[in-house]
Amino acid sequence: MTEEEKPQHFIRQIIADDISAGTHGGRVLTRFPPEPNGYLHIGHAKSICLNFGVAKEFNGRTNLRFDDTNPETENVEYVESIQEDVKWLGFEWEGEALFASQYFDQMYGFAIDLIQQGKAYVCDLSLSELKAYRGTPTEPGTNSPYRDRTIEENVTLFENMKNGDYLDGEKTLRAKIDMASPNMHMRDPAIYRIKHAHHYKTGDKWCIYPMYDYAHCLEDSIEGVTHSICTLEFEVHRPLYDWVLDNLETFRSRQYEFARLNLGYTVMSKRKLLQLVEENLVKGWDDPRMPTISGLRRRGYTPESIHSFCETIGVTKYNSLTDIALLEHCVRSHLNKVAPRVMAVLDPLKVVITNYPEDQVEEIDAVNNPEDESAGTRKVPFTRELFIERSDFMEDPPRKFFRLGIGREVRFRWAYFLTCQDVVKDADGSITEIHCTYDPETRGGDAPDGRKVKGTIHWVSADKSLPAEVHLYDRLFTVEKPDGDKEKDFKEFLNPNSLQTVEARIEPHLASVAEPGYRCQFERTGYFCVDPDSTPGKLVLNRTVPLRDSWAKTQKK
Ligand code: ATP
Ligand code: MG
Repeated sequence: MTEEEKPQHFIRQIIADDISAGTHGGRVLTRFPPEPNGYLHIGHAKSICLNFGVAKEFNGRTNLRFDDTNPETENVEYVESIQEDVKWLGFEWEGEALFASQYFDQMYGFAIDLIQQGKAYVCDLSLSELKAYRGTPTEPGTNSPYRDRTIEENVTLFENMKNGDYLDGEKTLRAKIDMASPNMHMRDPAIYRIKHAHHYKTGDKWCIYPMYDYAHCLEDSIEGVTHSICTLEFEVHRPLYDWVLDNLETFRSRQYEFARLNLGYTVMSKRKLLQLVEENLVKGWDDPRMPTISGLRRRGYTPESIHSFCETIGVTKYNSLTDIALLEHCVRSHLNKVAPRVMAVLDPLKVVITNYPEDQVEEIDAVNNPEDESAGTRKVPFTRELFIERSDFMEDPPRKFFRLGIGREVRFRWAYFLTCQDVVKDADGSITEIHCTYDPETRGGDAPDGRKVKGTIHWVSADKSLPAEVHLYDRLFTVEKPDGDKEKDFKEFLNPNSLQTVEARIEPHLASVAEPGYRCQFERTGYFCVDPDSTPGKLVLNRTVPLRDSWAKTQKK
C-alpha cells in the first residue's frame, strides 16, 4: 500500500492536527508497552503496526517499553521473544529497550509528592473491605476510616510499607480523589500494593509495586511520550491517567484509545495462550496453530502480509470480530507474488508409464513463478515411475472430473500428455498403482496436432523425489468465539483435527534451498514453509494456507 492509499484514521488525524498546532513543537513519540508475561500475538501486531507506523509517518520515534510492574508473571524469556518479534515485523525502537521497573525510584518519589500535597493516603482496609467500601456503579462508595490521616503519618507509613514492615495486602497507598465519583476508577484507587515478591529485574529491592493506572501514565510522562495509544478498555481509566499527571510536575502525555483486534476461531489473551502451552495442548508458543507472532512466523506468514492485514482492518473506536479469512487472504496475496512454485504430492499414488524407457531420466523445464518472470526456470526429473495425488485419479469418474480416469488423457504439468490405461489393486481392492502411456510428441505440455486436454495435474518422480514430513493445519478451535461462552471453558472448543501430518514426496530441487523459513507454493495444494526442525536428512514443512481464497470469493459477491 502506498502512503496515498492508506486509509485516514482518527489517530493519524489527531497526530496531524497536533503537528499543525505545534503541540510539543511537532515532536511525536509513541510507545509499545507489552507486559513480558507471554509471547506477542496478532493483536499486539495491530498495536505495533499502529504505534511504530504512525510515528514513522510523522518523523517521530517509538519506544519499546516493558510494562513489568507485576513481579510474579514476568520473565526474561518473554522479554527476548518480544524483541525478536518486533524486529521481525520490521520495526526499530528508539535506543535501548526500556523497562517500567527502571522508574520505580521516580514513581516512589512521585507518590511521596502526592502524599505531601494531601492527595494520597495509606489505607489499612483489607481487600474485601476495600471492595465493600467501593460502592457499585449506581451507589456511591464510602470514605475509608483512614482517609484523613495526617501527611506526616502517611509519609511514615508509606516508608514503612517500602521497608517491608507489613505483610502482603495489609496496607495500600490510595489516591485521594472522590468516593462518590460516577467513575468507579476514580473512587480513591489503590496506587501501590504490598507484594513480597522477587522481581526478575529489580530482585528483592522492592516489596511494594505500583498499580497499572498509576504506573503507566508516569512511564509515558518520564519518557516524554506524546501520544499514548492503547485499547478501548482503558477509556474509562483515562480520567485517572489525567488526574495523576495533572497533579504532578511532569510532562503531560495524552492517552488515545482504539478498538482491539478480535479474530475468529482463536483466542487472544496471553493468559489463555499460556494455558494451551502449559497443558501441552499445542507444541509451544510458536506452534504454527497459535495466533502468536512466532507461531505465524513458523507457519510461513511474512511480515509484509501482517502489515497489509493491519492496514486493511484499520483503526476504529468500535469493537468487532475480524474474519480469519482476511488474514489468510493477505498472506496468499503476498506469497502469490514472491513464493517460487514447486511440485509436491501430499498423498502419493504411483503411476507407471508403460511405454517410457526403464532408465531414462529427462530434465523438464518448469517455470518458477508465473507471477514473476525474473524468478526463471528450474529442471524437474521425469521418469518412468511417478507419483501423483491420490485425489487426482478416479476409477469411475463423473463427466466433470477433469483429472485422471481409465481411458482419460490429462497434462502432467510442464511434461507430457498421459492417458490412463489400467489400474493395479491389492487383495483388499485398493488401488496401488495406475498404468499410463505417454505421448512423446507432447513434451512441454502441448500437442502439435492441437488436441486439448481439460486437466493439468502435478507430479513428482517416484525415485528422484524426496520424502518430506508435511503438517497440514485446520483452525485451532471449532467455533468462531471460543471464549464467548462464559459457562464453558474455551478449551472445550479445541479442534481435535487441527494438525494432520502426512508423508509427502517433493521435487528434489528443494533439497538445495530448503533452509528453515524457506517459503514456496506447492502447485495446487497451498503455500508451505520449511520448519525450523527440518534437516537436510529429514525435511519438515508446514502449510501456511491452502490456495483457495474464501475471502476474495466473498468480496466478489
Ligand atoms: P493480553 O490480554 O493478551 O494479555 P494485554 O493487553 O494484557 O493483552 P499487553 O502486553 O499489556 O497485553 O499489551 C501491550 C500492548 O498491546 C497494549 O498497548 C495493548 O493495548 C495492545 N494490545 C493487546 N492486545 C491487543 C489486541 N487484541 N488488539 C490490539 N492491541 C492489543
Ligand atoms: Mg496487560
